[in-house]
Parts: sequence; structure tokens; C-alpha cells
Amino acid sequence: MTYVIAEPCVDVKDRACVAECPVDCIYEGERTLYINPEECVDCRACEPVCPVEAVFHEDDLPERWAHYTSVNAEYFVSLSGEPGRSATGGGDHPLIAALPGQHPRKKGISVFAIRKEEAAEADLWFPS
Ligand code: SF4
Ligand code: SF4
Repeated sequence: MTYVIAEPCVDVKDRACVAECPVDCIYEGERTLYINPEECVDCRACEPVCPVEAVFHEDDLPERWAHYTSVNAEYFVSLSGEPGRSATGGGDHPLIAALPGQHPRKKGISVFAIRKEEAAEADLWFPS
């Protein structure tokens, strides 16, 4: 059994889960993070800290993301078929690499965060 990182992490990657993992089995690709199923000890520490609810136990994956169990596992299978750090040399699983750009919902979060940060630094933006 293992935990799995699904699509909401793509292009978010805030790494909150990495800090919680006691066995350092969460690895970073270009657009998302991946849990190595050979190393995960099923402790659940990563799941509650994810701000976008991307982490699931493999038995609890929503149906639309059921293939993410394979996506995570295949990321660690080398071209020779032996388990390794990454099949793509630090890139992404092909299905992740092929996803379109940021989901509009994530863009919205990102734009809001930037504006909020800028507004906190200076109130020049806002006429009195
Ligand atoms: S369930 Fe535990 S061991 Fe597995 S990835 Fe999450 S924090 Fe790491
Ligand atoms: S906490 Fe969630 S969004 Fe952040 S890197 Fe981990 S899985 Fe991705």
C-alpha cells in the first residue's frame, strides 16, 4: 500500500508534504511531486498538509485520478525496468508532461496571491 500524489499538485509543488515525510520518499519532478511506492511506509503524515488535497491513499483515489497510482510508481521505474529514482532523469512522467498548462483554478489562486502580496508591501495601488 502507498500514498499517491494526484493531479492537483501539478504546477503547484509547494513541497509541504516533503517536510512531513519521515522516510524522504517524495521526489520532485518538473511539474509535480511523486511518492515512491517502494519506500512509502503508509504513515499518512503527508496527506493533511497538502493545501490542494493532492495526496490520497491509493485506495481512496477519486476515480478520475485512479491512474495516478501508476503515474507515481512508473516515475521510479528505469528504462531497464528496475526501480530507480526517475525514469525521466528528473523530468516528469509522460502523462504529466503532456498535461495542458495550469488549471484556471490554480491560475486564479496564483494571481490572487501575487496581488495580495504586492498590496501588503505598498498601498500605492489603491486610490484613497
Ligand atoms: S504516507 Fe508517510 S511515508 Fe508515505 S509519502 Fe506520505 S509521509 Fe511519506
Ligand atoms: S503538499 Fe500537495 S501540492 Fe504541495 S508538493 Fe505535496 S502534493 Fe504537491
